[in-house]
Amino acid sequence: MKCPQCGFENEEGSNFCKYCGVPLSKQDYSEDNPYVKRRRVEDQLNNKANEEDEMKEKIEKEERIRAEARAKAEKEVKDKEQKEKKKKGGFFSTVWKMFETALITAWILRFLGIIDF
Ligand SMILES: [Zn+2]
Repeated sequence: MKCPQCGFENEEGSNFCKYCGVPLSKQDYSEDNPYVKRRRVEDQLNNKANEEDEMKEKIEKEERIRAEARAKAEKEVKDKEQKEKKKKGGFFSTVWKMFETALITAWILRFLGIIDF
């Protein structure tokens, strides 16, 4: 068992390094431990899968936000068009009312003999 601190080759199963006294149980977690290596690969794979899931979620969220923004913009345009239409209608009806009033006034004035046409 190689000491992680000084590299001294100790007897297998030693708890401490004979040379520098560092605890050797740390060796269980070293890079050479195949279990640790496998765990690391699994962790990396899990992390990658998680990252992909997060990325997918993020993209879906962004798409949802974009769709909502688009729907909102479309609604605003529609509302604006409707408002404009209403305004236009209001303008024409006002003009028509003025014309109507003028016509009635003219007819009354004609009936009273004040104007002639
Ligand atoms: Zn040592």
